Amino acid sequence: MKAVVFIGAGPGAADLITVRGARRLGRADVVLHDALVDPALRELAPQAQWVDVGKRGFCDSTGQARINALLVKFALEGQAVVRLKGGDPSVFGRLEEELEALAEAGVECEVVPGVTAAIAAAAATQRPLTRRGSGRSVALTTAMTKSGELRAARSADTEVFYMAGRQLGSLSRRLADAGWPRATPVLVVSRAGWPDQIASDHSVGTLAEAAVLHSGRPSVVTVGVGAAPVAPAARPGPQQRVRVPIQAAAAAVRP
Ligand code: SAH
Repeated sequence: MKAVVFIGAGPGAADLITVRGARRLGRADVVLHDALVDPALRELAPQAQWVDVGKRGFCDSTGQARINALLVKFALEGQAVVRLKGGDPSVFGRLEEELEALAEAGVECEVVPGVTAAIAAAAATQRPLTRRGSGRSVALTTAMTKSGELRAARSADTEVFYMAGRQLGSLSRRLADAGWPRATPVLVVSRAGWPDQIASDHSVGTLAEAAVLHSGRPSVVTVGVGAAPVAPAARPGPQQRVRVPIQAAAAAVRP
């Protein structure tokens, strides 16, 4: 095993980690993990020292420097280090900074992929991200710029926005400014992959109404072709909001 293994934990429930990820985790001496990681994953590495680096204090740039330093320190001590990240490590996971720090210190790494939130949301709601003929491209986009400014784009047939949960009203306006028609379907899924996941249907024009429902919960916002339900019978009217737990939503789109 390489000195540091980055593992994508998946978006929620512990069984969404890959088999390879679970195996590598089982061999760890130290696990540096994010806040959102399911506590049940600890059972896969009871022998390891678990260090929570996802809490407040680690999420600014000083925090990132401390995480980098910890990774290097444990690796140079000869410990088997796992860096466990929510979703996939390569998607909005600050993987770049951590790989750079380890490369600088001459530490060998491996990256094990995970299920990213956009994919978990698509699976949970049975909304394929690509559609034959109409949905040829998917973009994973963060709505927040480095300086904390909200930005929206129209760069693909289906655009999935991360880190937009707190500003759905502004996102709605920015999406319209970016050229998305007001009637474009928008799907919001919060805590995808967890037992309490929630999905709701909106349109670009009505997205602001989703704010209360998903308040304080990690959410992805899928806009465009991939947000539309597959079964025509389940398609909501333009103003209608479907407020359902995922299980119910999944049942509704089943033919
Ligand atoms: N590496 C992670 C993303 C980390 S950025 C991944 O691949 O999924 C954090 C953002 O991811 C949150 O603001 C939210 O937009 C999204 N997110 C993470 N977990 C989520 C979940 N279970 N359900 C919905 N969105 C989630």
